[in-house]
Amino acid sequence: MSETRSLPVQKQVALVAHDKKKDELVEWALENKEILKNHQLIATGSTGKLIEEKLGLPVEKLLSGPLGGDQQIGSLIAEGKLQFLVFFWDPLEAQAHDSDVKALQRLAVAWNILLASNRTTANFVLHSDFMEQVYEIETPDYSNY
Ligand code: PGA
Repeated sequence: MSETRSLPVQKQVALVAHDKKKDELVEWALENKEILKNHQLIATGSTGKLIEEKLGLPVEKLLSGPLGGDQQIGSLIAEGKLQFLVFFWDPLEAQAHDSDVKALQRLAVAWNILLASNRTTANFVLHSDFMEQVYEIETPDYSNY
């Protein structure tokens, strides 16, 4: 049995990038500024600062990822307050906060939210017609946990 959650038209979009992926995320966000400005942007500390500077759009900045920001985003997902996570993680470098990275990815999958780990997927999701609609997602029934 599953339950549903409603993704609103104006979505909460979290932006997170590891250091060597930050330029790519900023470039992607700049290319898509016209769409992103219709949504509410949230980010881990350093990523958020950069996005705000380069795009000139308001970004709710959480703690830096390794200092708790990844976990804050995970909490938002679990509470149903985040619908789309754009997380450009670095496939070529080990992260000191690897356990936080994994926990964040795990919650995004557990709650069946939109999750893009690379530019191609982020483009496909952002340009989907569903982004402009209310969309019902199914979440597993966790009532017995
Ligand atoms: P940062 O965190 O945006 O504060 O650099 C990103 C991360 O989770 O590593």
